[in-house]
Amino acid sequence: MLNARRVLVLAPHTDDGELGCGGSIAKLIQQGSKVFYAAFSTADESVPSHFPKNQLEIEVRAATKILGILPEDLLVFKYQVRKLNYARQEILEELIRLRPIIKPDLVFLPASNDIHQDHRTIYEEGLRAFKHCSLLGYELIWNNLSFLANTFISLDENHIQLKINALAAYKTQEGRPYMSASFLRSLAEIRGVQCGKTLAEAFENIRTIL
Ligand SMILES: [Zn+2]
Repeated sequence: MLNARRVLVLAPHTDDGELGCGGSIAKLIQQGSKVFYAAFSTADESVPSHFPKNQLEIEVRAATKILGILPEDLLVFKYQVRKLNYARQEILEELIRLRPIIKPDLVFLPASNDIHQDHRTIYEEGLRAFKHCSLLGYELIWNNLSFLANTFISLDENHIQLKINALAAYKTQEGRPYMSASFLRSLAEIRGVQCGKTLAEAFENIRTIL
């Protein structure tokens, strides 16, 4: 893909990046891009009581590894779930600190009309910190009141399979309808039909620098 040798995925919570662009992450890595993944909350308060408190951190490590992200390229922060906006400035400063280290040419982040409060914060601070990069907003249809699908990344069968396998690592999220293999494949098929391919992920083009 043009101009995307170094890629950063901003995930408000540990599974958002895999859900929004897991197939594209797998594809980019297979094509030789270096992909970094930053998760801002491990939602310790929301983990069911029969799991260890850090279960989502364990799961994001497993999931991103399946997609091909190197352990050292995964950054896990411990901001409090649903309260990322309380730490807005701290998060912005963290992103600005990472910018010269990661030097991304492409950043994936939540879409501009995502209504989850934590997703909103990561969208806004991501935009501030990385305004000089290409920015693609990923879709999470249960949080998007509307979604401008104007950019597509086509996927092969192995990319969607890796996305499904990665999300299966989230034992805490089992049973959520959007984690199922059939949902993940169906959405990829829909987005594929829209762009004349078999499978794809759709994005909101927020900014492109060629
Ligand atoms: Zn989330």
